[in-house]
Amino acid sequence: MGPAAHSDPAVRLLADLVRIPSINPMGRACSGPQYTEAAIGAYVESFLRRHGIDVQVSESAPGRPNIIGYVDAGASRTLLLEAHLDTVHAEGMTVEPFSAEIVDGALYGRGACDTKASLAAFLHALTTVLQHPGRLAYNVIIAAVADEEYRFTGAIHALKSGLRADCGIAGEPTMLHIVRAHKGVVRWHVRTTGRAAHAAYPDRGENAIYRMGRVLERLEHHARELQARTPHPSLGTPTLSVGMIEGGQAVNIVPDHCRIEIDRRTLPGERADDAIRAVSDLLGECEGCEIEDPYLAVSGMDVPGDALIVQSLARAIRPVAGEPVIEGAHYATDAGLYTSAGIPTVVFGPGNIADAHTAAEHVALQELHAAVTIIQNLLTTPAP
Ligand SMILES: [Zn+2]
Repeated sequence: MGPAAHSDPAVRLLADLVRIPSINPMGRACSGPQYTEAAIGAYVESFLRRHGIDVQVSESAPGRPNIIGYVDAGASRTLLLEAHLDTVHAEGMTVEPFSAEIVDGALYGRGACDTKASLAAFLHALTTVLQHPGRLAYNVIIAAVADEEYRFTGAIHALKSGLRADCGIAGEPTMLHIVRAHKGVVRWHVRTTGRAAHAAYPDRGENAIYRMGRVLERLEHHARELQARTPHPSLGTPTLSVGMIEGGQAVNIVPDHCRIEIDRRTLPGERADDAIRAVSDLLGECEGCEIEDPYLAVSGMDVPGDALIVQSLARAIRPVAGEPVIEGAHYATDAGLYTSAGIPTVVFGPGNIADAHTAAEHVALQELHAAVTIIQNLLTTPAP
């Protein structure tokens, strides 16, 4: 970690963000200073205020803040720059998760790539442009939100609270490619119930796990059917996967309950309700089966290639990184929520998604610097 590298303010900002743990508890009963977005939110709030930006802080749950800064440039269009504050957990990492070490031109740590590098690039680009009054070509809303890694409640809360913009960028590691389309995701549980009995007298009970076995066979068949559908040109086919199962109390008791968790990836335009209805039709009159409401539903998105945000961002990329790659991705992001709420939003940022959530998560500083210049270009060039 050379002091020379840290003389760069964008790197220093990223290092600060990585040194403040912001692990998403993801439904587990975790508490302690490493968890939630509270501390990092306070840092981002004071960073924005220090640069004279109006800030609103709004919690979707205790300790789960969205930090939203507003810059009115008197422009005709408003651009949303959004990045999430949370990270996945840091167990099993082979590098120090929160010391922001720099090795061979890359900064290491949990969240370095997903997605604190994007957040640092957005914050640094905006505040440097603001040092020269009159250069902003857009009104800017900079949103640092909670809980993207689990239930997207930060972005949902921001939209419910009235967030509006003409177009947006959700910062995620895309290697500076423009991701203008991605799949959505719907997750929900299916339960079966039965009747408990001593395992020595199984015919006195009703086995909920056997019932679930029949459900699983139908779901596996349905998953194969989905993958046989005509593929979207860049996103392929929808998918379904059963990822979790639990049931029974003890091996000597006929189980009276079983529960599975389904992950269904949707194509842009597919509705969560329809995906769930297809499963309930498939299960039909299944005795003792219950389909729960989804606990997560994020739409896919497909922003047209000629949309203002795609064209403006492409023009900002060209002098920095050459002809931009414009593509689709299979993962879901907050951009799906904004786009379906009428804010065409693409995904863009430094780092490689293949390094996100890994044991040696890192981001190349060269990409961080390139992202800063690209966002500065975007912010200072009037829309075509
Ligand atoms: Zn992310």
